[in-house]
Amino acid sequence: MIENLNLTTAYDIQNLSDTKPKIAIIGAGLTGLMTAHLLEQAFVSQNRALNIVIFEKSAGVGRLATRYKNPEDNRDQQWQFDFGAQFFTAKSQSFQDYLQPWLAQGVIEHWLAQTATINTTTAPSEIQITGQWDSDQPRYTGSPKMTSFGRHLAAVLKHTEIHYKTRVAPLEQSEQTIEHTQSNNKTSLVDIEGNDLGVFDW
Ligand SMILES: Cc1cc2nc3c(=O)[nH]c(=O)nc-3n(C[C@H](O)[C@H](O)[C@H](O)COP(=O)(O)OP(=O)(O)OC[C@H]3O[C@@H](n4cnc5c(N)ncnc54)[C@H](O)[C@@H]3O)c2cc1C
Repeated sequence: MIENLNLTTAYDIQNLSDTKPKIAIIGAGLTGLMTAHLLEQAFVSQNRALNIVIFEKSAGVGRLATRYKNPEDNRDQQWQFDFGAQFFTAKSQSFQDYLQPWLAQGVIEHWLAQTATINTTTAPSEIQITGQWDSDQPRYTGSPKMTSFGRHLAAVLKHTEIHYKTRVAPLEQSEQTIEHTQSNNKTSLVDIEGNDLGVFDW
């Protein structure tokens, strides 16, 4: 999922007229968080100020973890299925190198999954490991959970506020709610209840 980011892009932000652009990002998934991270890196490296606001409709970062737990609250029968993203693949050497600091910090780890069969006819259920899920390209997962990577990215952002439980309305709704939305190349955003979320340069 992150593989497609152009990590070597030299951001040309020298000629921007905004002294401290106010930037809105919709969604605190990995794309939104990485975008904020790369923008911060680019601006800070050129001694430029910026102000980013990420609007996220849910209560936490990312949508990578979706779980189904055994509804029976019986310790012997406890299991859960994760049916969100389990891993991500780093195909290129440059992306693998880019991930190294996070690997060293323990924010991500190699994804070394095993396949198993579950025999539910016994009590407690018997889990038998049947093999190693192999891949010729390195795969990684968040550590200790898939959401940990997103949480880490959110925690290290220094010029970014994240507003949770805020669902941004389609831009047409902002344009109807707030007059002159696109004046001076600025964009006004509202939430789905029509509350003003601010005016943004980008
Ligand atoms: C079942 C499943 C399994 C997957 N397994 C893998 C895997 O193993 N490996 C892998 O690499 N990829 C996997 N993917 C894909 C991976 O989850 C996505 O590529 C990745 O999450 C995309 O990140 P994103 O930030 O673009 O989008 P998302 O993770 O979807 O994040 C978008 C965010 O925007 C928020 N949002 C949306 N609309 C609004 C709004 N109007 N206002 C405010 N916030 C809003 C959402 O709440 C969400 O947090 C899987 C996807 C699914 C559905």
